[in-house]
Amino acid sequence: MKILLLGKNGQVGWELQRSLAPLGKLMALDRAGDAARGLCGNLQDLDGLRATVMSLRPDVIVNAAAHTAVDKAQSETDLARRLNAEAPTVLAEAANAVDALLVHYSTDYVFDGSGSTPWVESAPTGPLNVYGQTKLDGERAIAAACPRHLILRTSWVYAARCGNFAKTMLRLAAERERLTVIDDQYGAPTGAELIADVTAHAIRQLVQRPQDAGIYHLAAAGETTWNGYARHVIDTARRLRPEMALAVREVAAVPTSAFPTPARRPHNSRLGTSRLQQTFGLRLPAWQHGVDRMLAETL
Ligand code: NDP
Repeated sequence: MKILLLGKNGQVGWELQRSLAPLGKLMALDRAGDAARGLCGNLQDLDGLRATVMSLRPDVIVNAAAHTAVDKAQSETDLARRLNAEAPTVLAEAANAVDALLVHYSTDYVFDGSGSTPWVESAPTGPLNVYGQTKLDGERAIAAACPRHLILRTSWVYAARCGNFAKTMLRLAAERERLTVIDDQYGAPTGAELIADVTAHAIRQLVQRPQDAGIYHLAAAGETTWNGYARHVIDTARRLRPEMALAVREVAAVPTSAFPTPARRPHNSRLGTSRLQQTFGLRLPAWQHGVDRMLAETL
């Protein structure tokens, strides 16, 4: 199996380099591409992307690249649209032309965040910001252009290798006695490792069972708020590294309105994952499982 991976150095892309390697011949590109081989990995270069797929003729394309800066997207609308909607459209058309499976990632931000029950795949969408709208446009274009697709909507992604919410909380917890953290957005922190492992498993199944193609929700099990997440991180750090000097005494709960941002965020980011678990015979671990592993590795 020949696999083309785009966005190899992002949170998910980095872990995909590990999880996809055993599946076959992996060609992993970042935005610089591979000039020596004439391969383009830049999502802004639509002609280059198309030519790369047509010349490589991969069996599977995994697109982990995206415009993920949610607040910046509000003022970089054209760039967000190019990366999150137009490039996926070109990848889908090219994938269809060479009969490749296209794997792509999307987000809980396609929903409006109302209610308190987990979103299922068929629930009505209603993005609150430019990022969510462009990701939704990307999903729709892929579904229209390439029936052999796997779109995984995920949420609150973190990775050990990059800066992340947990590391920020621990830095602040060392400096301050009181933290204020949002307590009215609900979701599940989901590790890039888990996303990459599930992707590899799903690709193997889809090669055998193309009828399982489609859109799925992929998030760790359980739910929390950013405040609950911060508390868990601090408690776990104290347990794992009692010698750490953490000044924090209180993690105060505040509403989203306490931290105004250019992009509105959904309150309900819960994703129902039954469809994915049943179709692919998987059991998604509790969010604490991955967060604790990440802390054990990085502290
Ligand atoms: P990251 O921001 O960690 O990685 C995105 C990657 O895209 C980076 O490697 C970046 O490269 C690359 N990229 C940006 N612009 C271009 C370009 N013009 N050409 C090629 N590559 C480019 O994202 P994640 O790994 O967290 O996200 C993976 C997927 O999951 C995305 O589709 C995202 O929308 C989705 N998702 C993410 C969530 C999150 O919380 N992060 C939540 C829900 C969904 P460079 O490093 O050079 O900038």
